[in-house]
Amino acid sequence: MAKVYNWQLGRDMEYPYEAGHPDWQFAFVFNTNRCIACQTCTMACKSTWTFSKGQEFMWWNNVETKPYGGYPHNWDKKLLSMLDEENPEGQIWDEEAEQSKEGPYGRFDGKTVFEAAEKRYGPEGQQRVMGYLPSEADWRSPNMHEETATGPSMQPGAWGHSTQLPEHKVWFFYMQRICNHCTYPGCLAACPRQAIYKRPEDGIVLIDQERCRGYRKCVEACPYKKSMYRPTTRVSEKCIGCFPRIEGKDPVLSPDRDPLETRCMTACVGKIRIQGLVKKDREGGWADVPDNPLHYLIRERKIALPLYPQFGTEPNGYYIPPRWVPRGYLVQMFGPGVESAIEQYSCPDRELLAVMQLFRAGQKIIFSYKIEKGPKVAEVEVTMPDGKSKTQEIFNDTVIGQGRDGKELLRVTVEEPTFERDPAHVNSI
Ligand code: SF4
Ligand code: SF4
Repeated sequence: MAKVYNWQLGRDMEYPYEAGHPDWQFAFVFNTNRCIACQTCTMACKSTWTFSKGQEFMWWNNVETKPYGGYPHNWDKKLLSMLDEENPEGQIWDEEAEQSKEGPYGRFDGKTVFEAAEKRYGPEGQQRVMGYLPSEADWRSPNMHEETATGPSMQPGAWGHSTQLPEHKVWFFYMQRICNHCTYPGCLAACPRQAIYKRPEDGIVLIDQERCRGYRKCVEACPYKKSMYRPTTRVSEKCIGCFPRIEGKDPVLSPDRDPLETRCMTACVGKIRIQGLVKKDREGGWADVPDNPLHYLIRERKIALPLYPQFGTEPNGYYIPPRWVPRGYLVQMFGPGVESAIEQYSCPDRELLAVMQLFRAGQKIIFSYKIEKGPKVAEVEVTMPDGKSKTQEIFNDTVIGQGRDGKELLRVTVEEPTFERDPAHVNSI
């Protein structure tokens, strides 16, 4: 095993290959607070990439209801239990460890899926990644437990208090999931055919369909269970990051070849998604590009957090955690940055509020933003994580999204404009 640096863990970790980093990295932020589980993203993906024979159970994008839902069933619970066995002291974060730009959440002191595999042997010898192969039944019902809540039994008359901030007593939330195009992919590490590769130009992880022999090692090894086996072709498939769109090859939407966000992102009705490309530096860290919206949300404000960073693959999907959910559950899922993320999201300051308007403002990838200041338009009382009230000032700033070359792609104001229809068209049926 080689030693690679995982900034989400704040330390070096074991990985089967030497680090080889792309110039740019496909990354995205999902705001779980806004999702309505309409599954438009799911169907946008399905109708684009997985509508053929043998792909019936293939949902590259899915939205599951936590805590009970999951596709395949219990994917995270199963792996967390396996990791617990290998980490008898617990999956511990040392938050006192020096926090820096390259280790912003402290240091994870437990074993990752790569390190936990060291003492595990299969028929082919020592495993490279600790994982499991879901059963066919696990893949059967992508929406099992949708909208099933959890919480203590309530006494009559107590329901009114069950859904009050800062933490709801009865709760669920929607978790949107696609392949994370990980920096250290478990799928790639486990493939005995070396059929899986990470593109140097954008970090998208792909399976070479010619090289794959369908051994399903990637399905077993992906901690997020986003590599899937297709019985009709007998090879594995996974999310391809809509790479033709990322390359700007959609002749209708992008005649000038500007890179476009993926189908699942651009279809999002709840405006919870933003996706882009972040610049990597020579050592594989993130280049300091403070006006890139993803860089701003993930690295600078740390309001968007990786999903199960303790697995060790350095996923490139980030989530703004749901503000009403018990914190212990969220810390297990997103690591120690949860409190700070929820605190900032509860009462976003001027710049943060402006940048959050960029979610689904257009289809093209935004590489940088600028803010033009506007007047103060409101003051609202918000509930903070400690239960106290705070006054949020709202300014009607205009945020401008720019392409790779600095070209203006869109502009959007904080206050949503209203438009009145010409009475001539009030009833146009
Ligand atoms: S999420 Fe899974 S399939 Fe996607 S790159 Fe990471 S390990 Fe591979
Ligand atoms: S389209 Fe957006 S709002 Fe609808 S389920 Fe998907 S992520 Fe949630």
